[in-house]
Formats: sequence, structure tokens, C-alpha cells
Amino acid sequence: LPEIALAGRSNVGKSSLINRLLNRRKLAHTSGKPGKTQTINFYRVNDRFYLADMPGYGFARVSKAVKAAWGRMIEHYLTSRKELRGIVHVIDLRHPPTADDRQMYDWLKHIGLPAIVVATKADKISRGRWQKHLKQVREGLSLRSGDPLILFSAQNGQGRDELWRAIQEWL
Ligand code: GDP
Repeated sequence: LPEIALAGRSNVGKSSLINRLLNRRKLAHTSGKPGKTQTINFYRVNDRFYLADMPGYGFARVSKAVKAAWGRMIEHYLTSRKELRGIVHVIDLRHPPTADDRQMYDWLKHIGLPAIVVATKADKISRGRWQKHLKQVREGLSLRSGDPLILFSAQNGQGRDELWRAIQEWL
């Protein structure tokens, strides 16, 4: 089956996004201990594809050795997996992308993987400020005008349909 992988800083809201996307209340375990999950979790979706939840990056309180092991595992997966169709890259709408976010995005582009950027936690920003924050994400990652960027909220489901459509196009 084809695979779609999810990338994002730890605690950015990846698990919540998965739960919302699949309309599950508790499937991906949310929050608790950031940086804890060090393996890729695969969720089989409607016998059609796998969502591959990659461990969150950028968690400060892990050792250099753990970070290096993380990097090797992710790199191996992203560069060699034949089933992989694209990456959903989750960013926190509230803040400018971090150096880690930028590095991840640049690297995805570098290895030629299609990526959709999803700016989540939209419900935490008032509607009138969305455009300003989206611009901040676009500029922070140096997105080009055609690069997809989806406004999302795991809390209220905003952007869910748009993300589904984008995923369907990869399958
Ligand atoms: P992960 O570490 O990337 O899997 O992040 P989680 O999904 O565990 O989310 C981290 C925290 O952010 C949790 O407290 C979530 O409830 C919260 N969160 C995640 N997504 C949203 C969202 O869209 N809106 C709001 N208000 N909170 C969110």
C-alpha cells in the first residue's frame, strides 16, 4: 500500500491531526511526553494507504546520540521507501517556523519528496490574523506561490477536507 508520512516538531499537534483526520477520538496518543516516541507508527487507513507518523523532531531534551539515531532512521525511511508518496509537514500556525522546521522542509525538497505544509492550531489564532500568520509560515519556509499550505485545526476540523483531497491526489 502507498504511504503518506507526517513530519513535525514534537508537540506541534501531529497526533491530534491524525485523530481528526481519521475521526478517531483516541488512536494516536496525544501529548504527555514530547520526544518520547522514537519509532515510526503506521496507521492503516481504509485498506487504501498507511499514514506513517514519524517521531517529532527538535525536542531539546534528548541527547546528541538520540538525535543522530533519529536522523539516520528518518533519513533512511524518507530516502529509500518506495511506497512513500508524499509528506504532510505540520507547522504551528502561531509561531514563525523554527530552524528545525526549515531544515526539514528544505531537506524534503532536496530529496525531491512532494510535501504539503499544514499550519495547525488555527483555532488558537483569531480569524483576522490568519493571513498574517500564514504569511509568516510561507516566508519562514520560503514556500513558493504554488506550494500547498493548508490552514488546519484539530480542535474544530478546519482544513480537514482540504487535507483529505490533497492526500487523495497522491494515492
Ligand atoms: P504531537 O506531539 O505533535 O503529536 O502533538 P499532540 O497532538 O500531542 O498535541 C500537543 C498539544 O497541542 C496537545 O495538548 C493538544 O491537545 C494540542 N493541540 C494539538 N492540535 C491542536 C489544535 O488544532 N488546536 C488546539 N487548540 N490544540 C491543539
